[in-house]
Amino acid sequence: MAETREIDRIADLWALLDGVPDPEIPVISVVDLGIVRDIREQPDGSVTVIITPTYTGCPATLLIEQMIREALESDASLRFTIRTELSPAWTTDWISEKGKQALKEYGIAPPQPGERDVPCPRCGTTDVECISQFGSTPCKALYKCRQCLEPFDHFKCI
Ligand SMILES: [Zn+2]
Repeated sequence: MAETREIDRIADLWALLDGVPDPEIPVISVVDLGIVRDIREQPDGSVTVIITPTYTGCPATLLIEQMIREALESDASLRFTIRTELSPAWTTDWISEKGKQALKEYGIAPPQPGERDVPCPRCGTTDVECISQFGSTPCKALYKCRQCLEPFDHFKCI
């Protein structure tokens, strides 16, 4: 069953890349972040990995591509191409549920549709204030919880 083996191979590659952490937020993988959009088997037996950068100009983008390349190179028999596709554009909707949960546990408020009520990742209150639109990286905004008085990063919704 050659076909089944190929499917397994693609699944193995997804699992491999799920082990590549985001360089800025190491608790979330590049797969959960939605940067790795697709892995396609080509007729010649090579694979094409489609990646979409998150925020345009995010300095981590090149580093992420390099980390993905290194992970794929660990399989010496694998021939691959990494292709960057900008369309459809990445949005925070591409972050998986598992990824959003990991962000929360890490103390980063996951992106919320609507962006109005950002709950504190520690106590859950929405009694928070935005201190700065730019947190530790341009992708995040810095908030402060008025209840537990702790600052926290909020992954901005785009
Ligand atoms: Zn709080």
